[in-house]
Amino acid sequence: MPFLNISARYLESDLYKILPMEKHRFALQSLLSPAQVITEDIRSFGHDRMPRYISASNPMMVVLPQSTEEVQSILQYCTKHQLPLVPSGGRTGLSGGAVAAKGEIVLSLSKMNRIVDIDPVNQSVTCEAGVIQENLDQALEPYGATLPYTLGSKGSCQIGGNVSTNVGGLKYSEYGPLRNYVLGLEVVLGNGTVLDLNHKVHKNNAGVDLKQLFIGAEGILGIITQITLKYVNNDPHFHLFMLGTHSMDQAVESVLTLKRRRFTLKAVEFLSRNCLESVVGNIPSMKDPFLTPHNFYLLFQINARQHEEISVFDVCNDLLEQNLAQDCVFAQSTMERRLLWDLRENISESLNQRGAVHRNDLALPLSQLSDFVKALDTLIQKEYSPFQVYRYGHLGDGNIHLNILAPSNYAQERFEKRCDVLDERLFQLVHEFGGAISAEHGIGLLRKPYVSLTKSPEELSLLQQLKTIFDPHGILNPGKVI
Ligand SMILES: Cc1cc2nc3c(=O)[nH]c(=O)nc-3n(C[C@H](O)[C@H](O)[C@H](O)COP(=O)(O)OP(=O)(O)OC[C@H]3O[C@@H](n4cnc5c(N)ncnc54)[C@H](O)[C@@H]3O)c2cc1C
Repeated sequence: MPFLNISARYLESDLYKILPMEKHRFALQSLLSPAQVITEDIRSFGHDRMPRYISASNPMMVVLPQSTEEVQSILQYCTKHQLPLVPSGGRTGLSGGAVAAKGEIVLSLSKMNRIVDIDPVNQSVTCEAGVIQENLDQALEPYGATLPYTLGSKGSCQIGGNVSTNVGGLKYSEYGPLRNYVLGLEVVLGNGTVLDLNHKVHKNNAGVDLKQLFIGAEGILGIITQITLKYVNNDPHFHLFMLGTHSMDQAVESVLTLKRRRFTLKAVEFLSRNCLESVVGNIPSMKDPFLTPHNFYLLFQINARQHEEISVFDVCNDLLEQNLAQDCVFAQSTMERRLLWDLRENISESLNQRGAVHRNDLALPLSQLSDFVKALDTLIQKEYSPFQVYRYGHLGDGNIHLNILAPSNYAQERFEKRCDVLDERLFQLVHEFGGAISAEHGIGLLRKPYVSLTKSPEELSLLQQLKTIFDPHGILNPGKVI
């Protein structure tokens, strides 16, 4: 649509009153620039990677600020006119957090993508929220450094989205949650107040650390505009190997054995046989590294430098001799390392190619994992027919991704309704075992109906009060999380 100049006469006319969307568009275009406010071809801005929200996408318009000041102006305008607003990163989320289904304005951070400062002495990097994770990691490479996390979505997800979801990912076993590495945040609150929280100081114990509230807040408390992260040294010295096992019991015991031998586990991933088959069957160039099939596979990345007295090869031999694993392949070249990691990282994509996937993201205390999996197996056998269930995840952290696919002739709406019923039983089971209904993907819209299984009424009430303080008019990501 061509840009129209806003004239005082036009704003006073009846046309202006009849078309509030146009009114807001013109006003926001005057605050930013015409090209930074778009209303056409914007459906992709209204949903994330959960298939169920694609058809619901219905944003009113998309605003693309280029600076913190512009974010501030947008928020002041939206507060004044009580316009709901959805913060939007790379929209790779898996919980419906970035969904705009009710005519909201989408605030996309994608044009705020500058790397502001890399400080090799402080070992920190400061960037705007819209920087893509992979781009930031590449910028750190010349410093022999890397980010303390990586995700299968690294080519599209943004640092602001990563912080807003407090991501876990494939390095969690070694480094823990992203929260541990956020030194400073710049945040714009619902009423346009800008908070600059901590800059890049490593150690600061001056009372309550407010920035923690925005990490994992899924955009309901403020818009994150700038982030300073502590980075880590890139360590190219590691062993990568995959074990084939009969059962989850064996898989968990193998992890414990390596931990008891005091190896630093940089990553411990697992996948079920049907996940491996899905990758090999749907992604050209992928192949099964084993000669015979196994029920489960465990991928270990282990620090190569620490043990002089016992080699990781000896430990693997022990695992095979104790029958905790039935097979083992070691990666011996960069190509083989890439193949083993690709088997794990391509699961999500290979399942997408086969239809609409319903995804769960559970976490259990490691000590409960084996018993939980037995109870889960019973639930699946009793309730999940005719669906196919695919399991993979970050075993070192007790994190299981349970992915459900329907037969191709199963209607999408029926599938979603059935999954909602199944989720209720599944989350009840997780609750009974003291687990979490979302290990790393967050609550968003998808898990909001079940949030009381993971937070007490007192906790939810306090969260609601916090939301009112930071976002008094409730314009930020309304309807998500609480
Ligand atoms: C193939 C694949 C693999 C994945 N692997 C992992 C994994 O291993 N571990 C993991 O934890 N997740 C994983 N994810 C999920 C997803 O990539 C992460 O949740 C990611 O952090 C989302 O970032 P994003 O920029 O895409 O955010 P979006 O999806 O755009 O938004 C996520 C939430 O954050 C809010 N938000 C976004 N930017 C801001 C901002 N600047 N300020 C305030 N709020 C904001 C949104 O409103 C929304 O609620 C995976 C997803 C895919 C598709």
